[in-house]
Amino acid sequence: MKLLFERSRPGRGSTLLPACDVPAVDFDQSLLRAQAPRLPEISEIDLGRHYTQLAKQTHGVNDGFYPLGSCTMKYNPRVNEEAASLPGFTQVHPLQPQETVQGALEVLHTAQQLLCEITGMDGMSFQPAAGAHGEYTGLLLIRKYHQSKGDTARTKIIVPDSAHGTNPASATMAGFKVVSVPSNDMGGVDLEALRKAVGPDTAGLMLTNPNTVGLFDANILEITQIVHDAGGLCYYDGANLNAVMGHVRPGDMGFDCVHLNLHKTFATPHGGGGPGSGPVGCKAMLEPFLPAPRVKEAGGVYSLYTPDQTMGQVRSFYGNFLVVVKALTYLITLGKEGIPEASAGAVLNANYLMKKLMGHYDMAYNTLCMHEFVMTLQGLAHDSGVTAMDVAKRLLDFGIHPPTMYFPLIVHEALMVEPTETESPETLNEAAQAFLEILAEAKDDPESLHHAPHHCPIGRPDEVTAARDPILRYNFEA
Ligand SMILES: *Cc1c(COP(=O)(O)O)cnc(C)c1O
Repeated sequence: MKLLFERSRPGRGSTLLPACDVPAVDFDQSLLRAQAPRLPEISEIDLGRHYTQLAKQTHGVNDGFYPLGSCTMKYNPRVNEEAASLPGFTQVHPLQPQETVQGALEVLHTAQQLLCEITGMDGMSFQPAAGAHGEYTGLLLIRKYHQSKGDTARTKIIVPDSAHGTNPASATMAGFKVVSVPSNDMGGVDLEALRKAVGPDTAGLMLTNPNTVGLFDANILEITQIVHDAGGLCYYDGANLNAVMGHVRPGDMGFDCVHLNLHKTFATPHGGGGPGSGPVGCKAMLEPFLPAPRVKEAGGVYSLYTPDQTMGQVRSFYGNFLVVVKALTYLITLGKEGIPEASAGAVLNANYLMKKLMGHYDMAYNTLCMHEFVMTLQGLAHDSGVTAMDVAKRLLDFGIHPPTMYFPLIVHEALMVEPTETESPETLNEAAQAFLEILAEAKDDPESLHHAPHHCPIGRPDEVTAARDPILRYNFEA
């Protein structure tokens, strides 16, 4: 595909500037650049086609099934985008006087109340810009809590070996030492190992439930009790609330603080580096430490305040405000009945697809799953040489985005599939059919699968080089 620079022709263009209606100003020559910037000159239609072609080369939720486990790439209704693009939201300035932005403050306040209700928390901050940022903020809450009690010996955070990689990373960033505990054979927390791990140096535990293999840990109340008895606090990684929202609440499972990924579960797409939001909720005893400013309401008037023992700011102003607008629109359109219906649909779809593949693909855990399930292709790789990577790549030829691969780390040759709630039975049947066809190919012609995908613009890029050494500038000399 040709680049814009290669299509550029001098003098061609697509800009019509209005006549200048302000007095011309003569700049000092030293302030001007010697040469005009080498921008591509291209007509409007060629420009439009260029980006349309680019869009066709990638795969998004709008193109097809996108079962990316742990990352929840689900369909986000357009009405949320429409609400977030209203000028009353997009044209406000964060430094405007509070009395002129009452509606914006009400959005933050209402979204906080609804998400606190869903998580079983008492207070929330929307400052963190992503999930990992929320984890970091939550861990600072835990640290400030222990410090406020003069308890400086609590330096360790317990993290199960199945945890999302951001958990140990955030704990380390927040200045804690990470203690890893092994999982039991259902991917849950090994209670004996946890009992041995806790002590007077335990600051807290980081956990997600359902865990990273998509199973609900039935021992959760005992787990949080063990940590509390040892004087530690419990942190809930709520990145994937799609499995449980409206059914169970982290606060009722014994957790003291939680982060959510609004850019997974609550109406903002995940990935692509776009703006996200990782709000942190907490129980009342941690509220004084939340980032400032916070929003409060009295007599119908909203105002900002700084909690007395606040950790300060973890980001400028109030976080990614428009992402919160989308989340609030989503919450209000779904309502009290729609929220649990969405998560029930996510769980139903995951179990439906899992059941279709069971007996053909090896499941890592042969039990009902929550919103996602994990397969292990170890046997297939052993018998045919076809790996999880090969199957994932081949799915692209069927118009299906690969599931999450090689995660969680405790499952070998893992493929982690999360269909999400909006997919129809027909789509799930087609996906199952694609998985089964690939399995047949693995028996008949395993060699060809090593070169899949066969019909995509790009097949197997060098991912490390692409990530570490991307070519982001056009080379005019070449
Ligand atoms: C996605 C995810 C995170 C991190 O979220 P980011 O916004 O990517 O930083 C943390 N934990 C779990 C379980 C996740 O799925």
